[in-house]
Amino acid sequence: MIIPLLKGLAVTLKYFFSRPFAIQYPDEKIEMTDRWRGIHYFERREDGSTKCVACGLCEAVCPSNCIYLEAEVYENGRRFPRVYEIDGTRCIFCGFCEEICPVNAIRLGKNYEYVRHERADFIFDTTFLLDQKKLNP
Ligand code: SF4
Ligand code: SF4
Repeated sequence: MIIPLLKGLAVTLKYFFSRPFAIQYPDEKIEMTDRWRGIHYFERREDGSTKCVACGLCEAVCPSNCIYLEAEVYENGRRFPRVYEIDGTRCIFCGFCEEICPVNAIRLGKNYEYVRHERADFIFDTTFLLDQKKLNP
């Protein structure tokens, strides 16, 4: 009976002097790995607009059917998304949209902090997606 007790104490002592696993969140943040798939963002062109050319591939491939897109064409013939929305309440962060995008416009970023009270705040529109770029330099 004393042996298991000593074994237990040894384990306790071992972890007592080792580095703690917990961090003081939110004062401390953990660095996410390169493979982490967090909140989406749009890559920008030099003029600050989205690189998206509204091809519709991400909308078609999305298994959750949570991307809504309305395409429009500039006078110079370039397509752009007049409306682009991702429903963050339905997204499963699979990354298919990022993988299929032919111009690398939509990306899944490192941001894992997004808490809101209103359902409407989970609609990631173009403005939101462009703004998220600053969290993913
Ligand atoms: S990451 Fe989300 S938005 Fe993109 S394809 Fe997957 S479910 Fe759809
Ligand atoms: S984000 Fe990429 S895949 Fe989706 S519509 Fe725009 S260009 Fe096409």
